[in-house]
Amino acid sequence: MTGKLAQIIVLLGAPGAGKGTVAQYLKSKYDVCHFSTGNLLRNEIQEGTNLGMKVKGIVASGGLVGDDVINEIVEKNLGETVGGCSIVVLDGYPRTRRQAEVLDGMTSGKLKALIRVVELSIDREALISRLSQRLVCSECGNTYGPKDGKSTCSCGGGLIKRKDDEESTIRERFRKYEEETLPVSSYYGDRLVKVSGSGTPDEVAQSVDGVLCSFGIEKRR
Ligand code: AMP
Repeated sequence: MTGKLAQIIVLLGAPGAGKGTVAQYLKSKYDVCHFSTGNLLRNEIQEGTNLGMKVKGIVASGGLVGDDVINEIVEKNLGETVGGCSIVVLDGYPRTRRQAEVLDGMTSGKLKALIRVVELSIDREALISRLSQRLVCSECGNTYGPKDGKSTCSCGGGLIKRKDDEESTIRERFRKYEEETLPVSSYYGDRLVKVSGSGTPDEVAQSVDGVLCSFGIEKRR
């Protein structure tokens, strides 16, 4: 890092609002690194680590992993990502007010990064239908909807339904979102910009481009 303050773009939004899709879009068009706590946890579970065993049931049931556990994983891994990238897209973290406070502590301390927040807002029933139909790549984590008409990922990996995309689990994830994550939006106040997540992926991408432009972030040349 060369003196310039790193920027962290926090993607907020209910499950299925399109955080993962927007993160993929940003990776394809901008010089950013993607940091997803959901992906970190799924890797731990897949590798059968102690942490993975500890969180497996919680992730499968749509609950939230405890703040202390998640903050520790982020503290352990985020520094490396911020050190290697001037713009980091944070997907799935923070999900509680406590996590947002810890992230502020990290970035005003040794990480030195500016936090901006993009919240994807979308109607609840549209979200439930979107989530119960979505497929993810078992290799790279890219997500696909029914309109994509794909049975394999562009990386060659097979597409599977995520265990936590079953309808009862989706409802639990919503309940948690409304209870724990909605207060995170108000915590960020004027650091947060809202974008409608209801349009087509191209329309959402265009709105996100506008927000990033207002942050002074340009597309890769
Ligand atoms: P995601 O891929 O972001 O939807 O995360 C999948 C699951 O991992 C969530 O439903 C939670 O069980 C867990 N998880 C991911 N990030 C967090 C977080 N910041 N706090 C608590 N649990 C999390």
